[in-house]
Amino acid sequence: MKVTFPHMGQAYLAIKGMLDDLGIEVVIPPPITERTLEIGTKLSPEMACLPLKINIGNYIESVEKGADTIIIAGSCGPCRFGYYGVVQKEILKDLGYDVDMIIFDPPDSDYRAFIERIRKLAGKNSWVNIAQAFKRASIIVKEADEMLDIALRKRAREVNKGDTDSRLYRFEREVWGKYGSQEILETIRKYKGILSQVEEKPRVSPLKIGLVGEIYTLVEPYVNLHIEKKLGYLGVEVYRSITLHEWVKVHLSLDVKHRMRHKRILRKAAPYLNLCVGGHAWQTIANSIYYSECGLDGVIQIMPFGCMPEIVAESILPKVYQDYGTPIMTLVVDEMTGEAGYFTRLEAFVDLLEQKRRSKADEYKESLFRG
Ligand code: SF4
Repeated sequence: MKVTFPHMGQAYLAIKGMLDDLGIEVVIPPPITERTLEIGTKLSPEMACLPLKINIGNYIESVEKGADTIIIAGSCGPCRFGYYGVVQKEILKDLGYDVDMIIFDPPDSDYRAFIERIRKLAGKNSWVNIAQAFKRASIIVKEADEMLDIALRKRAREVNKGDTDSRLYRFEREVWGKYGSQEILETIRKYKGILSQVEEKPRVSPLKIGLVGEIYTLVEPYVNLHIEKKLGYLGVEVYRSITLHEWVKVHLSLDVKHRMRHKRILRKAAPYLNLCVGGHAWQTIANSIYYSECGLDGVIQIMPFGCMPEIVAESILPKVYQDYGTPIMTLVVDEMTGEAGYFTRLEAFVDLLEQKRRSKADEYKESLFRG
């Protein structure tokens, strides 16, 4: 069995570490490129969500490298994600690809089926081995996100432009050849140290922008056109409302304190939206309010074209802006999104936030003179 999976940011580090530890042969999909998107767009229904199209591109490129089994997380909706796994399975079958697909629906929907699928994947491994491999994978997720957080802080303050990203690039090249969770973790820890040494400009107070929106678009840099990098180069410190680590903590861990905090933030959305309408729309509203209350300068919502839950959130966000006063911009991405126009919109938004900050500072100075 040669197992592959779709890309989603740095998830490949944890999945590879876990499968290596279980002695399962892994085919990491090649990094997402224009070719991946082209394949996915050609082979998927036109109105399918962008993440589904890229997933299909990932599978085909992995099958070309010898993969024969695909693992994917499933869901029961209510948006289109509910039938993602099944649709993808059908697409591959229609194209004549002889691959097995193991869909991990959330355990609460059918506990027995969930266990059976783990057993199918893990073969003769004991349950203790499986639990330990899973635990190490969640540590990888946590530390990889901490590494990205260091990069987000450094990018906005680095003395030499590009210093942070050249180190991240070296990390990606080095970690690609590692085997097992131990080696992967050691590499992440090494680069956390290397990134911490990026020289910072003294006494800078960068603009702070929070990113909200659909999880795949937030986590996968290819899909969001490397928004964190672009904002960093504009001198902005980025805050991410959804990370892989956050997702694992909320959905797969027993961390009660974190779950309570998550619920507390969700409750902020109650006057606008008080139920899950699929995807992460509820979180989009709640986190926009949370970021406004924390005093961030602005919020950017990113969503794939046609994403139903985020369209709901988008229609509510102007009201959140009216009530809280923090500027919010929505960016829609699809296979046609042009990099230049996208960057221009980011620059314009950052300019607006800078002006707002300056006029606030002027008002403050004037009030001091007036006594
Ligand atoms: S959240 Fe949006 S992009 Fe993701 S599956 Fe649902 S509709 Fe599609």
